[in-house]
Amino acid sequence: MRKLTIVAIALFLLTHIGVTCVSAQTENITRQEMLRGSITPEREWWDLLHYHLKVEFLPETRRLKGSNEIAFKTLKPGNKMQIDLQPPLAITKVTHGDSQLKFEREGNVYWVMFEKELPKGVEDKIEVFYEGVPTVSRNPPWVGGITWGRDDLGNPFIVTTCQGIGASIWWPNKDHGADEPDRGMQISVTVPENLVAVSNGRLKKTDHDVAAKKKTFHWEVTSPINNYGVNVNIGNYVNFSEKYRGKGGVLDLDYWVLAHQKEAAMKWFKEVPRTIEAFEYWFGKYPFYEDSYKLVSVSYPGMEHQSSVTYGNWFRNGYLQRDPCGCGVGFKFDFIIVHESAHEWFGNNISMKDAADMWIHEGFANYSENLFVEYHFGKKDAEDYVVGTRRGIRNDKPIIGVYGSNREGSGDMYPKGGNMLHTIRHVINDDAKWLSILRGLNADFWHQTVTTQQIESYISSKAGMDLSKVFDQYLRTTKIPLLKYEIKGKTLSYNYERVVKGFAMPIRVNINGKEIKLTPTEATQTFEFTEDIKTFAVNRNFYIDAEKSSS
Ligand SMILES: [Zn+2]
Repeated sequence: MRKLTIVAIALFLLTHIGVTCVSAQTENITRQEMLRGSITPEREWWDLLHYHLKVEFLPETRRLKGSNEIAFKTLKPGNKMQIDLQPPLAITKVTHGDSQLKFEREGNVYWVMFEKELPKGVEDKIEVFYEGVPTVSRNPPWVGGITWGRDDLGNPFIVTTCQGIGASIWWPNKDHGADEPDRGMQISVTVPENLVAVSNGRLKKTDHDVAAKKKTFHWEVTSPINNYGVNVNIGNYVNFSEKYRGKGGVLDLDYWVLAHQKEAAMKWFKEVPRTIEAFEYWFGKYPFYEDSYKLVSVSYPGMEHQSSVTYGNWFRNGYLQRDPCGCGVGFKFDFIIVHESAHEWFGNNISMKDAADMWIHEGFANYSENLFVEYHFGKKDAEDYVVGTRRGIRNDKPIIGVYGSNREGSGDMYPKGGNMLHTIRHVINDDAKWLSILRGLNADFWHQTVTTQQIESYISSKAGMDLSKVFDQYLRTTKIPLLKYEIKGKTLSYNYERVVKGFAMPIRVNINGKEIKLTPTEATQTFEFTEDIKTFAVNRNFYIDAEKSSS
């Protein structure tokens, strides 16, 4: 009963007030959120060149101990640097050449003071030492931290996850999406000698300290990498690999799984080459040939760690044995391999500057699932899939979050983001052009961080039509356009409701079995058909609602 009342009130409001863009609420941003989520003056003056993270995992005491060597270039003069590290971990020392730098803590942030102001345009580096008992993740990957787990056979199985909360939950860094280390990153991980540590990029060498009974695994990424894409996984890992001949030459596909999973994985990971094939078709060459492609078995469902995609989907199709579309198509592929690998293009090649624009990662990755389906199973299955995922859309709050605060928008960024892109493809209604836009995005924003505005402008300009109102509608409001229509004999009257001002998205409808293009607006228009209109339906590829007028 209560639900019905709410629906009635909501319907009343929807039909009686216009739709305005929900503007970001900035008044409630805390200082800690601002420090984490914005480009502060203490971040702005220096540009990251390279990280070398050296970290030891101590399973017995569940501690971390290590350092991060941060190389940077000054963009303007500066003497105060913001470095992020979340408690209970703590920075113990910061060195700059031979000298130690003073620092003080403010919550999750450290203010590091140089001896004297650094001039503009110089390259320099500091080393930040840290240690402590890190936050334990209560629910990886949705809650960040370290998971000190055990595998099915009782061996230590330790993983890091930090999407959202930030990489500073387990290592000190410049924890903002806008700045990635231009020359990549080295990750040196020390673990007890009976374990293997797998991280991003390529394994360059392994040191064995026999006396200390420890091994150090040195991994290297040569491309820029976003902070949350950095990960370490420690366990009883074994490795197998294959070569894939792709658009960028020979791509190394490396698989790291627990020893007892190897047989199953060798069969199941055949999903990987066909995934790369589909996405190289749609988006252009895999963005990290130098760093290889890796699929790494973990104890949680999965994550898009760059050149180190993590996998825990039980060697089964669907997503944790569920079908995201409810139409059967989701059981034709391994959701985690497809979705997380798509992030190598959208998320890792093209990365958001601000967490409010997270849909650039998740909307496109969700959309990629239906492109994978189209490539391997055809258009009908692909449409069934993307249209089917609408059942997961809640329209609870806008997809775009609050800028400058590390606050993401609604989880609708996945299925609604995907459906917005699918709708735009059908608005453009030119598959060759759409393909060139998807490839163009990856080529023109290659290894870059971007804003929503850049993505919007790019698509509008390449499509040759102004799609800004479409983006406004789906990204910045919670309202789904409603097409109101009325049929009298041969005449169709129609208009949009629940739309942003100026919204005039063209759609295709089906009248008596014939496809007709309409460009509705808020003002009522009429269309004369050649005969009495008996059947009317909106093409399902357009994510709008339709309702026959009662008058
Ligand atoms: Zn994702």
